[in-house]
Amino acid sequence: MSSAKSASETPRKYQLFIDGQWVDAESGKTFTTPNPATGATLAEVAEGDKADIDKAVEAARRAFEGPWSKVSARDRGKLLYKLSQLIDAKSKELAAIETSDNGKPIKETSYVDLPQVVENFEYFAGWATKIEGETIPVPGQMFNYTLREPVGVCGQIIPWNFPLLMAAWKLAPALAAGNTIVLKPAEQTPVGAMELAALIQEAGFPDGVVNVVPGYGETAGAALASHKDIDKLAFTGSTEVGKLVAKSAADNLTKVSLELGGKAPNIVFADADLEQAVNGAMMGIFFNQGQVCCAGSRLFLDARVKDEFLDRFKEKSARVRVGDPMDKNTQMGPQVSEEQLNRIKGYVDIAKGEGAQVLTGGCPPQLEGDFQKGYFFQPTIFGDVQNSMRVAQEEIFGPVVSVITFENEDDLIKQANEVAYGLSAGIWTKDITRAHRFAKAVHAGVVWINTYNMFNAASPFGGYKQSGYGREMGKHALEMYTQVKSVWVDLSGKPIGWFGN
Ligand code: ADP
Repeated sequence: MSSAKSASETPRKYQLFIDGQWVDAESGKTFTTPNPATGATLAEVAEGDKADIDKAVEAARRAFEGPWSKVSARDRGKLLYKLSQLIDAKSKELAAIETSDNGKPIKETSYVDLPQVVENFEYFAGWATKIEGETIPVPGQMFNYTLREPVGVCGQIIPWNFPLLMAAWKLAPALAAGNTIVLKPAEQTPVGAMELAALIQEAGFPDGVVNVVPGYGETAGAALASHKDIDKLAFTGSTEVGKLVAKSAADNLTKVSLELGGKAPNIVFADADLEQAVNGAMMGIFFNQGQVCCAGSRLFLDARVKDEFLDRFKEKSARVRVGDPMDKNTQMGPQVSEEQLNRIKGYVDIAKGEGAQVLTGGCPPQLEGDFQKGYFFQPTIFGDVQNSMRVAQEEIFGPVVSVITFENEDDLIKQANEVAYGLSAGIWTKDITRAHRFAKAVHAGVVWINTYNMFNAASPFGGYKQSGYGREMGKHALEMYTQVKSVWVDLSGKPIGWFGN
């Protein structure tokens, strides 16, 4: 592998990982990726495109039909478990790499991303031996059973907001079920996936089982999504690109799962523990610099507690420590790219134009030294927002929350659901009947009651409406990576009645 300089000052170098080999792109092209905290070049990476995707899909097909199909479920589980252990052993270094690549604080990569990556591989290691068919009680002298088989070659396209964790969510269930994979990491954050590829090689997966081809969305991503020889496409990213990839996959009737954008309602009732709810609102929108598809970006406040809540929320938000993501006390690092930073600034102007008030933040912080070149933005709260405004309807993907006031529960549910997305929702109340009433009424794939942003490898995650389809994690993820074959056996030994005798 041609990677890995330990000092982050010297740009790291990565090739493509295809068929168990580290290779240059066919075109010979490379691209660079910056450290978003300073703008300095972090890595130079081979730039895969259609020719490389073709090679990777061929390798994945050979592995699927050859060596990987002969590996027992138990051995697949052992390989996955070994991988989880290798990641765990290297987690400190990987956390630092992930922070340098994405900008998220080291506290987050160390205590959230890496532990969850390990947990996902560990969890699905256990599933490998538990993927079973069924026997069906059909009438007559017949025996009917099902086989649950892998889908085949899977194309997986992942985003930049949780680079390693998104790779884990996709790779772990696909491998447990016996599929092979071509993974395309996001061009903004390719480094973690390349490091992961090295560990996959070290764990001993046969060549071609996992191929990692970094490159741009419009070239490598589009080539993967439209490839005739992939059996399944799993995509996480924006709703806009999700629609594009679903359309191109439809030409080949490739099976597709999509985990897309969100504009989640996070709702605070007057009877909530306000201190907890304030912390939950902050966790909902400022975690990972707001670059979370399930971010609680529409904060619905009960009119009876709005003023008190906002006083506390503003005060705490203004105190969020934004800065050097490698500092363990930092709570928010930079946004991932200049493009994302500009998008957020654009939405501040849109919000003002729509009549919303900036209650706190609304611009980049004053930082010193190299961090002046980073893509930082302050925690930002918009007050006086109507649910119909663009800042309440469109995904901003930054630390920007829109506050909407509500008077009663019926009106609230209507507004909470009046949005194109349906990924997640939060509610803060001590009234358990109200909480469960809401959980049932809200159109969202995940609901958090008196908490926010909780995840576990065993619990499914995915969206309603334009937030996508399919569920990642938990046993539901295996549905996406297996297909069912129904087998009929005659037990009578007699000729078929219709045309017999
Ligand atoms: P964001 O807007 O958050 O950057 P995207 O949806 O653009 O998210 O990107 C998510 C992933 O999709 C990335 O790996 C990106 O390279 C890829 N991608 C972007 N455009 C396309 C496309 N036209 N076809 C396939 N993949 C794409």
